[in-house]
Order: sequence, then C-alpha cells, then structure tokens
Amino acid sequence: MEWEDLIVTEKAGNSAREQSPDRYSRQILFDGIGGEGQARIIASRVAQVGCGALGTVQASLLVRAGVGMLRIIDRDFVEESNLQRQILFDEEDVRAIMPKAVAAEKKLRAVNSLVKVEGIVEDVNPSTAGRLLDGMDLIMDAADNFDVRFLVNDFAVKHGIPWIYGACVGSYGLTFPILPGESACLRCVFESAPPAALSPSCDTAGVIGPIVGTIASMQVAEALKILAGRRDRVNRRITAVDLWDNRRDIIDLPPRDPECPCCGKREFPYLDGALGADATTLCGRNSVQIRRRDNSGVDLEELARRLAGLGSLERNRFLLRAVIDKYQLTIFADGRAIVTGTYDLGVAKSLYARYVGT
Ligand SMILES: [Zn+2]
Repeated sequence: MEWEDLIVTEKAGNSAREQSPDRYSRQILFDGIGGEGQARIIASRVAQVGCGALGTVQASLLVRAGVGMLRIIDRDFVEESNLQRQILFDEEDVRAIMPKAVAAEKKLRAVNSLVKVEGIVEDVNPSTAGRLLDGMDLIMDAADNFDVRFLVNDFAVKHGIPWIYGACVGSYGLTFPILPGESACLRCVFESAPPAALSPSCDTAGVIGPIVGTIASMQVAEALKILAGRRDRVNRRITAVDLWDNRRDIIDLPPRDPECPCCGKREFPYLDGALGADATTLCGRNSVQIRRRDNSGVDLEELARRLAGLGSLERNRFLLRAVIDKYQLTIFADGRAIVTGTYDLGVAKSLYARYVGT
C-alpha cells in the first residue's frame, strides 16, 4: 500500500468523526467500537420488525448510536396502556391515535438528524416481507407474535441476514442472535410456534418496563457488535432473565440442525405463506376472519381462563366470544377467529396475536 492510500483511508476515517465530533465521541472512545467500528455503524441499514415495548427501546438506542438507516415497521396505534413501557410515546400520541411507526419516526428524527429513520405502517407478512426487509444488514426482532418471528427467520436464513430474537412477558425475557450459516436458526431452537392458547402475551399476563429495557438493551449490544464488524464478540448463547425471581440463565444454543427445515433443508413455508396466520376481511360485516394455516386448534377452556377479567366472555362448546374494548373476538376450537369492529387486516391480526396468541 502507498502512503497516499493510507492518507486517503485516514481521511475517510476522520470524516466520519469530523461530521459529528461529539455525538459519537463516547462510543468511538470505547475500545470495542473505535473510529472504524463507528464508520461501519454509520454505513449500516437496519430493519426493526415491530415498535412496541422492545421496539421503542431498540430504536432509541440504535438511532442514538448512529446507524445509517433504521426502518421501523409496525401495524399498531399508540394506546394509553402502552405508555408504562413504550418509552418513545406520550399522551399526545394516544390522543392523536398515532401509528406507532409514525410517532417513533417523528421522535427519533429530532434525536438524530444524521440517521435516515423510516417509519412504515404495515404488517410484515409473506406478501410484504420481501419488499420491507430487502437490502438490510440486520433485522431486529421487536415483534409481538411467533408467526412474524418464523417469517423473519425464513427471510433472514434465505438471504443470509443476521437477526436478533427478543421476547418478554411479565418479568421474564429471552434473547439470542441468529447468524445464518454460523449459528442455530429459530427453527433449530423451536421446531414450531408454541400452541396458541399456551403462550402468554403482555396483554394477557402483563409486563413490567425494566425487563423490556433489559432485553432490548441486550439485543442492541449484539446489534452493535455485528454492525461494528465485531462478530467475534457476539454472544452465541441464549440469555434468559427474570427480574422478579432474580434469575439469569445462560443456555447454550443447540448446534445447527442439518435436518432443520429452514437452515438445513432451506424450506421457507412461513415466507411462502404455507404456514402462519391468514387474514381476510368479511365483506360488509366490519369483520376480519383469521385462520391458522397449520390448523392447530385452540383449547377454549384454557383461553377463557386467560381472557377472564379483560372483557365480557360468552362460551359454548364450539366457540368463545370475548368483547374487549371496542372489538368482539369470536374464537372457534379449530383456531379460527372472527374479529368484529375493524376492516383492517393488520389490526385484526394484532388483536389475534395479543389475545389468542400464535
Ligand atoms: Zn435452523
């Protein structure tokens, strides 16, 4: 290499620093990142699937850290019960019924104008995933249901994009990174989504803010390692934390399974739309029907127990009807549900994910 090349490289390195000398100074001082790592972070593109509790913390940290571009995809609106833990939103967002992606974009642009923040109000599903996740260096999991996570896993493995799983409920949370081709994928870890009625959600079991901050922060730490080019530092284990029971468990990820349908056999049924939930509007009825493509049934008795106290419930041997807020959910034993009170497929899927589960 000639001296001149070295000078050019040094200049390029400097320009990233000169652009914002103070903004990233503490991160550049940090040995693990440095000027080169920061330049890589600035050049990176990240998609974040979901912008609820985990998502607001992730997005805030990523934008402050200076990723080049952050695409925030969320199909929901801000509600009062979100404010306890979704740190980017405020009462005005609730009053204005702001879509979460839009509210997050507005707040974060004011935080760091150097980052291209894109808030997209859409549902990530087999027909939108390709367009929304294409060309990204990393995908952050801030989803509220397993169907989307399996879909993200299919996409990420197919295209070799790292992604970072994260989930929490109550005072408990779990996270691990997925490096396609290097570490176990989601389907190596969990063969399929847990049965609908057995997976508690924040809307049925509650959640406290600190576990959200803990898990989201751990996800972003792994994200920064990957984006800064320090894959050698990535934590290749499952971390499970319970802040109320004072437990922290580090569990080895299983090795990559050669028989894994996703990363072993390269079948992508969630991406192809063969598995996962399917939603269709019921013409003229202000209702959406949700059908599970795997036809896994729902234990109505168990579901009735979980929904007790959230709204009024009616039940017979074929179905359970719950009226929660302004929506009526009629859930059949085969897992099918009719959500009345909306024509919006995204809203209906979101309600199904919250109250029935995936
Ligand atoms: Zn796998």
